[in-house]
Amino acid sequence: MDSLIQWFSYGLTGWSWLALLAVALATTHFTIICVTVYLHRCQAHRALTLHPAVAHVFRAWLWLSTGMVTREWAAIHRKHHAKCETEEDPHSPQTRGLPEVLWRGAELYRDAAKDSEITARYGHGCPDDWIERHLYSKHSALGVSLLLVIEVLLFGVAGVAVWTVQMMWIPFFAAGVINGVGHFWGYRNFQSPDTSRNILPWGIVVGGEELHNNHHAFATSPKLSSRWYEFDVGWLYIRVLAFFGLAHPRALPPALRSNPLKVEIDAETVQAVMSAKYELQAKLTRLCRKAQDRLEGARLQAVSALRTDFEAIWTQRGLTVEQVISALQDWCQKAEASGVQALSDFSTRLRSLTLQSA
Ligand SMILES: [Zn+2]
Ligand SMILES: [Zn+2]
Repeated sequence: MDSLIQWFSYGLTGWSWLALLAVALATTHFTIICVTVYLHRCQAHRALTLHPAVAHVFRAWLWLSTGMVTREWAAIHRKHHAKCETEEDPHSPQTRGLPEVLWRGAELYRDAAKDSEITARYGHGCPDDWIERHLYSKHSALGVSLLLVIEVLLFGVAGVAVWTVQMMWIPFFAAGVINGVGHFWGYRNFQSPDTSRNILPWGIVVGGEELHNNHHAFATSPKLSSRWYEFDVGWLYIRVLAFFGLAHPRALPPALRSNPLKVEIDAETVQAVMSAKYELQAKLTRLCRKAQDRLEGARLQAVSALRTDFEAIWTQRGLTVEQVISALQDWCQKAEASGVQALSDFSTRLRSLTLQSA
């Protein structure tokens, strides 16, 4: 009887509450890594491939700790990118309101997961092997129950607390914070057509997913940080896996370089401008705003037109490369004749742009 009470109180391990806190933190961090590296970057966006054994560890842990089905997750997320901020977006705080996504994010996810049209339209290329069909997808809720049993055996009654933290982590941090706050509060590096934001420059708590604006600007990049002061812990783990040959990330978006000797606008300039369009537009908007404060009349209008004209160049569809070259040449001539030094400098920089693989 005593030993039964002993087991009930401390489980087979007899670990202290401090050790259990460490277990809760380590396992929830691992779950976040499974979501960001496996479900998000590898499955939904194909930004990297993983060694089958590593992929399976991620899948098995996701089954135990979240009960989420890979195909459903990837499909809902792909639809989010395809229909971003519209009524059809499964979880946009812009159409549904932030509190709805933050507090009811998991329910929105569950509703979308029930919609078989989403999985049929967006769920291609996800695991469909024997274990997926017979266990992970078919009995998606069994894993979390099994985890509860294991944790009560190991940690006694405190195992229920550890399990509860694990169960609340993803619904709150991934479905609520990223899908809600990541499209609401924070800073933007790129003027992508959605309202995505970088919540924090240090992507640790939710595995790098904090850098959500960077992600929407370069959705297939395996790395979510883009500025020197930003840190993406998910990318760190991918690098470690890649070092051991267990992950093969896609090439990173090429980095923009400036070659001071290059003054001709050509196909290379077009490529460079297109790859950094959001970044360049954001910079130009800042420069124009600063200049506009000091100008009036016709010059003020000319500067404002330069900003919208530049945007028109990269948003217009169906232009040939030659047409873009000529539009950029016109634009640069106008910027250089504007009499605003900052815009003239911007034009010189545009002419000098090239791409270099990162
Ligand atoms: Zn998003
Ligand atoms: Zn995504």
